[in-house]
Amino acid sequence: MKLESNGILIDIKPFGERDIVARVFTSDFGVLSGMIRWAQSAKRNKPLIGQFGNVIWGARLDSQLGSFHWEAEKNLAAPLMLTRKGLEYMNSAFALISVLVPEREQYKQLYSNTLELLINLTSNNQNDAYTAWEVSLLQELGYALNLTACSGCGTRENLEYLSPRTGRAVCKKCAEPYKDKLYKLPLNLFITRKFLESACFVQGVELPYARNILN
Ligand SMILES: [Zn+2]
Repeated sequence: MKLESNGILIDIKPFGERDIVARVFTSDFGVLSGMIRWAQSAKRNKPLIGQFGNVIWGARLDSQLGSFHWEAEKNLAAPLMLTRKGLEYMNSAFALISVLVPEREQYKQLYSNTLELLINLTSNNQNDAYTAWEVSLLQELGYALNLTACSGCGTRENLEYLSPRTGRAVCKKCAEPYKDKLYKLPLNLFITRKFLESACFVQGVELPYARNILN
């Protein structure tokens, strides 16, 4: 079995003395894991987290951990080195994908949103860009947040709260009797974190450390 696509290198772990086990978020096949042989001892073209490139993934059996041929085209993380925060957001996004997105399932929209995030993290609105990315991740995981109208009365005005149960907005008036059970809008990383925790709980995984340290 052989798969070829564009992708982003999102995770690297040393394996033995020479090899690494990597995860690549690909355009066509979603998340793939596999070995990159000799990557630790490579003198040049070392695989780095945040690289965008071309990947050929191969395995003898469908279920086997495959191996990668990785051809980096550019390092999308390089411009983020200038700001600590940019890298923190990138690492958090990659860790969330690694933990929550099932392997070998295509996620075209999330993939393009992730590429867009890496570009937007070089701008001044890092927090907004990252929050929007988490909302798109939550949507893919079945936790679509709907902020367009009140879930109680349908109005599009005074949407001041969000229901933790439904993920839908609630207007000021409808929220009145049970305000203390709702999240106060605008959307922020505290709120998205609550939904991510639910997603992690359902999948039986921990919220990744890189996400835990964001605030
Ligand atoms: Zn309402």
